[in-house]
Amino acid sequence: MRVSLTDAIALLKRGEVVAIPTETVYGLAADASNDLALKKIYAVKQRPANNPLIVHIADIHQVMDYADEFPPLANKLAQAFWPGPLTLVLKSKPTVSIIVRANAPTVALRVPSHPLTLQLLTQSGLALAAPSANRYTQLSPTTAAHVESSLGENIPVLDGGACPVGIESTIVSVEGDDWQLLRHGMIAAAQIEAIAGKPALQQPLETPKAPGQHLLHYSPNTATLLFQDRTALLAYAKLHHNCAALLIGDALETPIFSDGFDITLSNQPEQVAEHLYEALHQLDQLQASVILIQLPPATAAWAAISDRLTRAGYREKS
Ligand code: AMP
Ligand code: MG
Repeated sequence: MRVSLTDAIALLKRGEVVAIPTETVYGLAADASNDLALKKIYAVKQRPANNPLIVHIADIHQVMDYADEFPPLANKLAQAFWPGPLTLVLKSKPTVSIIVRANAPTVALRVPSHPLTLQLLTQSGLALAAPSANRYTQLSPTTAAHVESSLGENIPVLDGGACPVGIESTIVSVEGDDWQLLRHGMIAAAQIEAIAGKPALQQPLETPKAPGQHLLHYSPNTATLLFQDRTALLAYAKLHHNCAALLIGDALETPIFSDGFDITLSNQPEQVAEHLYEALHQLDQLQASVILIQLPPATAAWAAISDRLTRAGYREKS
């Protein structure tokens, strides 16, 4: 159900959830200070309660309402990248809802750059907790239609068009002058490092600080197979029926399948990110036997896209 900005504000103030556009993906938003509203997010997404939510704020001045400390490094990163696709994980004030932070001592904060959502934040005066507006582990939504197909027609959606960045924010935790990369995004680790003046602290992989980062995430319903190079993918496609494929780089001159379907995304990481989930949503609807995915080059510029595709392709070992 599409709603106006005025209706979205009224619903959020009443403690309802509303799907909102951001530059990264659509978020399922609720008033970050209303525990009953926050519980609705977890219920609608079927998301485990130990998976904390990012709090979206209107501007940098609100950081100290939520964070206990705003270290100079975090301040510099916020100045450099907000509004934009960077989430900062900082020591939380004890007053921040433990539902929003899933009992963690930290809070995750971001000022999004989508004009409609900035207006929503400013006009409502609310801070909005908002994870991606899809069911847990499914593909993230980058259009209002994606939200409706995942969460149903009854979810109120503020339609702000297709999300221009297209994949989730970069998440960085900051403690003093140390930082860690908790999730890859289109703001690259090298850009953070340039501002921090030192490399990230390495975290032990077994104890991820961002619990949403488990391997099975962002997955289509259709089975997926990942390929490091296109030749191997094409060879597989020749031998199997009813495949779909996601290719990166130059478009094929002739279609690879007689009975399949392929989408080719460009060789620019920003463009691939923008269209990635839309392409996966389309391929997922074909009822193919498998989606073959060509992984991008293993370079820093492609880190966030490789991360999402690897998770989309992950299957629990049986
Ligand atoms: P999503 O909203 O589904 O894109 O996921 C939000 C991500 O931010 C998840 O990976 C969370 O684990 C991470 N996150 C949110 N809040 C916190 C927090 N307080 N401390 C650490 N990570 C967080
Ligand atoms: Mg998500």
